[in-house]
Amino acid sequence: MKIHEYQARELLAKFGVPVTASVLAHSGEEAAEAFDRLRGDHGIKMAVVKAQVHAGGRGKGGGVKLVKSAEEARAVATHMLSKPLVTPQTGPEGVPVKKVLVAEAVDIAKEYYLGIAVDRSKGCPVLIASSEGGVEIETVAEENPEAILREPIHPTEGLQPYQARKVAYRLGMAGKQVGQATQIMAQLAKLFLACDASLAEINPLVVTPATETHPAEGRVLAIDAKMNFDDNGLFRHEDLKALADPAEENPAERRASAHGLSYIKLDGNIGCLVNGAGLAMATMDLIKLHGAEPANFLDVGGSASEEAVTEAFRIILDDPHVEGVLVNIFGGIMKCDIIARAVVSAAEHVGFQVPLVVRLEGTNVEQARQILQRAKAQLPTMQVGTDLTDAAKKITTGVKAVDVA
Ligand code: GDP
Ligand code: MG
Repeated sequence: MKIHEYQARELLAKFGVPVTASVLAHSGEEAAEAFDRLRGDHGIKMAVVKAQVHAGGRGKGGGVKLVKSAEEARAVATHMLSKPLVTPQTGPEGVPVKKVLVAEAVDIAKEYYLGIAVDRSKGCPVLIASSEGGVEIETVAEENPEAILREPIHPTEGLQPYQARKVAYRLGMAGKQVGQATQIMAQLAKLFLACDASLAEINPLVVTPATETHPAEGRVLAIDAKMNFDDNGLFRHEDLKALADPAEENPAERRASAHGLSYIKLDGNIGCLVNGAGLAMATMDLIKLHGAEPANFLDVGGSASEEAVTEAFRIILDDPHVEGVLVNIFGGIMKCDIIARAVVSAAEHVGFQVPLVVRLEGTNVEQARQILQRAKAQLPTMQVGTDLTDAAKKITTGVKAVDVA
């Protein structure tokens, strides 16, 4: 589960990580008020208006703008809220912007990257840090991998103080910044473990410049934050669950998850209904091998009911790009007759206007074949696939035949 920057900042603050002051706004008017409030409460001269969407790279897409007055904040926020935001992470159609954060702007002497993610090869969280902050860490990792520091975090003992100090020195921090940065790393690690996070990222972590008038500056601060949480840990965190923003999710994916189905929308033309993530991947590969593209990844799992599988068909058939449907089930815990009943139910309630290829093997396959045989009249576009390759070939040629006709 992802959350917005404004929510991630609140969590950071709760764990004692210094963040700049900020106020959330839903309109240009509210953004102007937010600027005035920040000026009144914190004496700010400049603010940064930031689109609140789950995608990153907002700076590159015009989703992060410096403003010097309440009027400017109003104009910038109104514009940002009026059209989808396109960033390197959103795709060309962009994502709608429903809220903006008006945050105190700071002068920046240096930007750093600080994050924690799960390192699957080591089987533990890893602290990742770089003095090449601000830009995308993926680009740094590719072009300049030695600029990235990694420290494994012990799953129960947490990040040790010596590790944080080592990272702070290697980042080139000096004087009082070492202590501040060390504290931030320790708190970020606590947050990560306490919240069952899968990603907790501060990019950039900044050091403000010390000036003649403000010699006490040189503070270390978080000015952006991104967090993801492990869905399987959410039952332990009612407070985090409440931070979910359904408006940011794909509506079909939301529908599927409400029925306990793993569904990911893709760009192709063949809808796939499969059980098991491995078989789903293999099915997608075979569709590609035979010249078509999958319209989705869908794993109905082992325990889905007939209703859930029928809903899965509805979701697939609602996608206007779907020109054919491939059902590939290896019945183990999932029983083939449940799938067959759901095929019939989907035919009754939605109707298969497009070619349908069904390949079933395993538990209760004979019952399933009989169910489909009896419902043949309702399934005029159905073909049976004898094995994986046969099924993939039948659906790809079936779709092409429809295209030609
Ligand atoms: P992202 O592009 O979605 O990661 O959004 P960020 O919040 O990280 O902002 C992108 C970039 O805008 C940062 O790397 C900074 O260079 C700049 N930026 C953001 N906030 C401030 C600020 O308060 N002051 C200054 N000078 N630059 C800022
Ligand atoms: Mg950022």
